[in-house]
Amino acid sequence: MNSNIGTTCVQGGYTPGNGEPRQIPIIQSTTFKYETGEAMGKLFDLEAEGYFYTRLQNPTNDMVAKKIALLEGGSAAMLTSSGQAASFMSIFNICENGGHIVASSSIYGGTYNLLDVTMRKMGIETTFVSPDCSDEELNGAFKENTKLVFGETIANPALTVLDIERFAKAAHDHGVPLIVDNTFATPVNCRPIEWGADIVTHSTTKYMDGHGSAVGGVIVDSGKFDWMAHKDKYPGLTTPDDSYHGITYAERFGKEGAYITKCTAQLMRDFGCIPSPMASYILNLGLESLHVRMKRHVENGQAVAEFLSGSDKIEYVSYPGLKGDKYYDRAMKYMGNGGCGVVSFNLKGGRGAAEKFMNSLKLAAIETHVADARSCCLNPASTTHRQMSDEQLLAAGIPAGLVRFSCGLEDAADLIADIEQALG
Ligand SMILES: *Cc1c(COP(=O)(O)O)cnc(C)c1O
Repeated sequence: MNSNIGTTCVQGGYTPGNGEPRQIPIIQSTTFKYETGEAMGKLFDLEAEGYFYTRLQNPTNDMVAKKIALLEGGSAAMLTSSGQAASFMSIFNICENGGHIVASSSIYGGTYNLLDVTMRKMGIETTFVSPDCSDEELNGAFKENTKLVFGETIANPALTVLDIERFAKAAHDHGVPLIVDNTFATPVNCRPIEWGADIVTHSTTKYMDGHGSAVGGVIVDSGKFDWMAHKDKYPGLTTPDDSYHGITYAERFGKEGAYITKCTAQLMRDFGCIPSPMASYILNLGLESLHVRMKRHVENGQAVAEFLSGSDKIEYVSYPGLKGDKYYDRAMKYMGNGGCGVVSFNLKGGRGAAEKFMNSLKLAAIETHVADARSCCLNPASTTHRQMSDEQLLAAGIPAGLVRFSCGLEDAADLIADIEQALG
């Protein structure tokens, strides 16, 4: 049955049979029983489907992964223990030592660090380009060994909006997939696959969970990228895997299944960063109301952004839903129902003013977090992005006085009253 997104949020991924639990069961078991060694051997050879060890697959995790795959319009998905694990694995699954990445410079600080520091140590190079770079610059960033393009729908915290269609086209013109981190928009407000993205990632810690309860991540594959058409570029998918008795993922599992099967069977087997079934259950509770909550986050974000843009204490406000915002037109194209509840603004008076403002807030807490039911705020330059140089901060669109304010689900009038008193 074809469902609208709200129905998928509530019921997708799990349909109980007669007399079975209405809520998804938490299969809190590390292992699964078999009658014969032969039956289990088939699972090890990926010849039969089934569960044998929760590090590789668990029914609760799979139900929630399936729901998110449906929400994003993908063919398959895999949950991870954090958004960082999802970003890393989504890349490493197709880009190893000697590979090269083209990435938007305006991305989450943790992802920037992953690409710019840690993956360089693994022999993987990244060329960063502005999300607003010219076509010449974008196309010029590709190299012989480029394996993928990476960007973020709405970047945390700069709130730049990625021109997904343009980045997808550039990626495809060079025979590589586009990976989009869709954490801030969520599939309720943007479905990157419909605009040409090949793989979508999330920190489910944010809106998907939505209650500040469980750290997690997810990787969704569109099932559309033709690995076999670029056989030499992706030997991990298109040549036999010796650690699985010579399986060639792209042949055995096709376009729809190869990427996530390899990611699960090989990377999850070796890195082991799975979510606990309990964490996935908590994530699913959040997903059940995602469509209802996103509407309120956006309403509050819009109200707060409009209020701030009229204040003489503020140098500028970034919110893609604000008329006149640099990314307004792009946001309307990709996110007609609104983007997210996060508003960034630069206080007149820089870092000091930002600090005084945040300390005076009563409803919004200072937190290393966003996209929660409770409003919170942060000064990225002194916290999440402190490893970046001033030039890097500017390239990412994050001046020292910037406050990232995540509008929760409270009443907009109360949030605005609190902000007004804190501005003094
Ligand atoms: C938080 C975040 C991440 C990292 O996710 P964790 O769950 O904290 O590991 C990645 N991308 C974006 C856009 C984020 O906001």
